[in-house]
Order: sequence, then structure tokens, then C-alpha cells
Amino acid sequence: MDFQGKSVLVTGAGKGIGRSTAKLLAERGAQVVAMTRTKEDLDSLEGEIGCRSIVVDLADAAATREAAHAALPVDYLVNCAGTTALDPFLDVTTETFDLIYTVNTRAPMIVAQEYARDRVNRGLPGAIVNVSSVSSFIGFADHAAYCASKGALDALTRVMANELGRHRIRVNAINPTVTLTPMATKAWSDPDKAARMLARIPLGRFADPEDVAEVILYLLSDRAAMLNGLAMPVDGGFMIN
Ligand code: NDP
Repeated sequence: MDFQGKSVLVTGAGKGIGRSTAKLLAERGAQVVAMTRTKEDLDSLEGEIGCRSIVVDLADAAATREAAHAALPVDYLVNCAGTTALDPFLDVTTETFDLIYTVNTRAPMIVAQEYARDRVNRGLPGAIVNVSSVSSFIGFADHAAYCASKGALDALTRVMANELGRHRIRVNAINPTVTLTPMATKAWSDPDKAARMLARIPLGRFADPEDVAEVILYLLSDRAAMLNGLAMPVDGGFMIN
């Protein structure tokens, strides 16, 4: 997949899946606009791939809209930034629930609104990939706020695909299994929990960020020209076992 001459906004590009996606896009010729919260991550990424960097806290709605606007115009959008917190359901606070929903669900909506408005105004097609999770399908213990935020992101993706598809903007979600990133270290460091998860993956391993990045690039590209509104597991078969 060649992204020569194309520009792509990637949120959460500082670490993990977002960073791998930014690097793979640059390797395939794209101009990347990298958006995240930690400036040092963007400085080092800029050194590696020569991207344009925008620092923003995606929990702040007004700042997110402003940052999205500053990133335009771009040909494609990858909403990858996300956060998690582990709490038994009975202990989830409204503050935690709101923060996770704000970053994982509301911020992708705001960034996509700005991106899509610009594409529609220019009369140009486009593509958006929202990075969701298998957590949108499964009720993982201690992941209430996270699972809810990703289920909502899948639902949002379907509405966006319906409305924006009419403007030739395709919108898909991908739903990775455990992927070896800093977030996975936070969420899956308990060896028993990780072993149970791994036992359900027929391919016998967790995903690497590059496995997920490849699927994101495919869904952005014209090779996926008839794919719209999916919630696509990238899970080594976890969902069928
Ligand atoms: P990481 O924690 O490794 O990276 C997340 C990136 O998002 C970081 O650059 C982080 O910046 C940024 N980010 C988080 N919160 C904010 C915020 N408020 N404002 C701006 N940027 C923010 O996560 P992953 O790469 O693992 O996850 C990427 C996406 O993939 C997420 O949406 C996640 O839910 C999803 N996912 C991950 C899985 C996994 O097992 N790793 C499995 C399934 C889905 P900073 O470091 O500065 O906070």
C-alpha cells in the first residue's frame, strides 16, 4: 500500500499502536500529522519520521476541536488515542467513567467531525479508522468503563459510516486483542489473567503493534474501497474461540 502524496492525522501517535501506525504510514510515503499529549514522544517521533506534531489533551473538548482544526487538511484520519483504568464494577467512580468515555469516545467524535466537515466542504472522499477493542464485544472483569467506551465507539462508527458514507468518506473500527504496548502492560500484567486470554487465541500469541498498524493502513487505502461500518477484530481468532 502506497501512501505517497497522502497526509494522515494519527491521534495517540506518541506510543504503542498509534506510534507504529505513524511510522508505517511514513515508511509507505505518507505525510503524518501526529497528535498526542506528551511532547517528548512527539519530539522523538518527529526525529524519526519528520511528522508535524500537535500536543493536546484529548480530555479537553475545546482544545481537541482546536487541535483537530489545526491539523487540517489531511486525506485520512486514524483515531487511535485511548486510555484505560481497572476497577471492579462496584468501585467504578463517575470521574473515571467520564474520563475514559471522554478520551476513548468523545474525542474521536470531535476530531472526526472537524476532519469530515473539511472533506465535505472540499467535495473530497476520505477514510477514518477508529481504534476500538475486543473489549467492545466481551465483558472483561474490571474493565467496565473501558468496555463501555469501546462499545460506544463501535456504535458511533456505524452512524458515522452511514452518514459520512453518503459523502464518500468510509468509516471503520478495528478491534484488537491484547497488543504489546504500554497500555497492555498496565491492563494485562497479571500473569493468570494474561494466560487465560492467550489460551483463547488460536494463533497462540498477543498482537504486535505492527500487526494492528497493517490493518489500519489497509482500511484507509483504496483497496478497502467497499468496506464501511465494520467493527473488525484483529485478534488471532480470539472472537471465534
Ligand atoms: P498506549 O497507552 O501505548 O498509547 C496510547 C497513546 O494515546 C499515547 O500516546 C497516549 O499519550 C495517548 N493518549 C492517551 N490519553 C490521551 C489524552 N487524554 N490526550 C492525548 N493523548 C492521549 O496505548 P495503545 O497503543 O495500547 O492503545 C492505542 C489504542 O488501541 C487505544 O485506543 C486502545 O484502547 C486500543 N487498544 C489497545 C489494546 C492493547 O492491548 N494495547 C487492545 C485493544 C485496543 P500519553 O502517553 O501521553 O498518555
